[in-house]
Amino acid sequence: MVRRNMERVMQRDRGHGASFKGIIVKGYSGFYYVLEENIKKAENTKEKELHEGANSKIWECSLRGKLRLKKQTFLPGDVVICIKADEAKGKAVIEEVLPRRNELIRPAVANVDQVVIVLALVKPEPDLQFLDRVMIMALYHGVKPILCFNKADLVPSGQATALLDIYEKTGFAVAVISTVKDWGISELKEKLRDKISVLGGPSGVGKSSLMNALEAKFSLQTGEVSKKTSRGRHTTRHVELLPLSCGGLLADTPGFSRLYLPQELKREELIKYYPDFLPYHASCKFNTCLHRGEPECCVREAVEKGVLDQGRYKRYVEILTEVIAQERRY
Ligand code: GDP
Repeated sequence: MVRRNMERVMQRDRGHGASFKGIIVKGYSGFYYVLEENIKKAENTKEKELHEGANSKIWECSLRGKLRLKKQTFLPGDVVICIKADEAKGKAVIEEVLPRRNELIRPAVANVDQVVIVLALVKPEPDLQFLDRVMIMALYHGVKPILCFNKADLVPSGQATALLDIYEKTGFAVAVISTVKDWGISELKEKLRDKISVLGGPSGVGKSSLMNALEAKFSLQTGEVSKKTSRGRHTTRHVELLPLSCGGLLADTPGFSRLYLPQELKREELIKYYPDFLPYHASCKFNTCLHRGEPECCVREAVEKGVLDQGRYKRYVEILTEVIAQERRY
């Protein structure tokens, strides 16, 4: 026993066979690329430098045979335990996958902390129906939404105020930014620190521009024309988590661009995804109140008094109608 422990220590000293915990950043051709976990948190400058020249800390990993036999999928974002196989070549073997907190389908990423929902204040006009739906989807998957209104340079200052008034009541972070002027980018970056994040939003709102503004080295192609003709990142099916220099990982492929609702969602549950409505819902006469025509409904009362925004309420009713229709179909 003592001898075996000694051997293990010796192996460890040679850097061979030592284990480490990491996060899969991408899977490609049967290999998984794993970032050592301490690198995710680049807190001091030395670590930051290491992180930016990150290859030495991203390990090329194969799967231990027993894992290959299990019908397990491995996604970017999965936390894994690896054993170093060849330190000089940066090769290791994945021994174990830790349980996932959540899993998104588009993009296929595990353990996502937050989705940055990007809309433009203009060009295109903000699609608030889209925003409300994506917030529902995100919360349904246990992912925190961060709301981000881009192209602030194209509108008079103050135009974002009405939107801020509506959405700050949800309690989620709301950022007003311009990728062109670099407004609000460093504050947003601060929110991505040490988290796994994905961007979501309709096309043309500035998601690629935002990724480039966050990290110049990403150099994603921007603009509709180049996207159509290029076969760059936007056409690849492999999602990659890109390490941010502040620590944290950002998916290179935007998600949540489709407007579907979770199929299992029931009408009484919808309100759970409206943190701004919930305090009023709690005071309604019926705890099953759907806030359409029920008596003594405090949500509607708050809308009539102008405390809750009429537009957001109308969109809630539209979404509720859809949820009810969906319940009948399934
Ligand atoms: P995506 O489809 O969401 O990835 O959007 P892109 O990043 O490709 O941007 C779409 C267009 O909006 C491009 O022409 C960008 O140059 C432009 N754009 C992006 N951010 C801003 C901004 O903050 N201000 C202005 N004026 N234009 C922007």
